[in-house]
Amino acid sequence: MADLISESLPLAVFACFPGQSRGRRHAEPEAPTRTAFQRDRDRIVHSTAFRRLVYKTQVFLNHEGDLFRTRLTHSLEVAQLGRSIARALALNEDLVEAIALAHDLGHTPFGHAGQDELDERMRDHGGFEHNLQSLRVVDSLEERYPAFDGLNLCFETREGILKHCAARNARRLEAREPGGVAARFLSTADHGPERVQQPSLEAQLVNLADEIAYNAHDIDDGVRSGLITLDQLETVPLFDDQRRQTLTEYPQLAGRRLLFETIRRMLSEQVYDVIAATRAAIDAAQPADVNAVRRQAALVRFSPAMRERSQQLKRFLMHNLYRHPQVTETTAQAKRVVAQLFEAYRAQPGEMKPAFASQRNQPRAVADYIAGMTDRFAAREHERLTGLRLLA
Ligand code: MG
Repeated sequence: MADLISESLPLAVFACFPGQSRGRRHAEPEAPTRTAFQRDRDRIVHSTAFRRLVYKTQVFLNHEGDLFRTRLTHSLEVAQLGRSIARALALNEDLVEAIALAHDLGHTPFGHAGQDELDERMRDHGGFEHNLQSLRVVDSLEERYPAFDGLNLCFETREGILKHCAARNARRLEAREPGGVAARFLSTADHGPERVQQPSLEAQLVNLADEIAYNAHDIDDGVRSGLITLDQLETVPLFDDQRRQTLTEYPQLAGRRLLFETIRRMLSEQVYDVIAATRAAIDAAQPADVNAVRRQAALVRFSPAMRERSQQLKRFLMHNLYRHPQVTETTAQAKRVVAQLFEAYRAQPGEMKPAFASQRNQPRAVADYIAGMTDRFAAREHERLTGLRLLA
């Protein structure tokens, strides 16, 4: 049966090999036609949480327009960028794809506004972190299989999904799974000198691809919404150098085509930079395998010059888009919706679905229930429970 399974290209020694996976939490027989990571990717695509990403906000709320990125299209863009870089570095594309498609599963409705408000409401009950919630979705909240809760993904996929984790939560995870996915968030004092510092290169790559993707598509969505202009973007070197290059070749180009071509070239420039800088870092470090990768500083990286250019763009977006009065006004309303939903379910747990209403840890069940909602379901529930309509 083994010959039915194929990897696209030979992998580097420091890549993640599915045959050497640290395994699943519940033992399962291998699939006859797919590697362990291909199977993880498929489980993620078939999950309920994945389908919900289409109606979850990235920056603009779902009802603000049909062409803005949602968490689903964002995740697909991260998978595309991640896979093309993975191929050039001989890393495992299937694992990169699985992590990319799952990396935002734990996001609440209404983007960061929802997550910040839920964290605030959960302050006395362990807080709320979206990265930890993504892991919680694949480890326990999905209900699809007869023998276990969650999707029972491989260690390497789960390791990539848990991008950050507060030390307090890391200790809790570590107690359940010693030396597991949370080990790298514990200090040397907790974990000894041979401590794990990084996840696999595939996981490191998805983090960087995430950043490249949202920086680029937030420019596109920002211009589409009218909140930022092409003229303002002339102050961002990463954008403006490519805009000038494009105009040298196509002097007549203007408007959306100029925007798209500039973003396209900007993406290519960053992808080539990551490939070159990461190759150099790998050549210098010569990791013998993925365990060697885990014991050193991050190897997937931008060059210092590109890191600086990327930060300039981030600062621009923070100042001009994420803190635009129109965005912050919607954000404030979204926080109110989440806060009032939380209080309503705390007061009347029976208003939640029975599986959540019957949980012993009620604050956590309410957080799980709200976190799983799409933007529009949350808005509808809020209106049903409060009679108010905060998000027009
Ligand atoms: Mg993301």
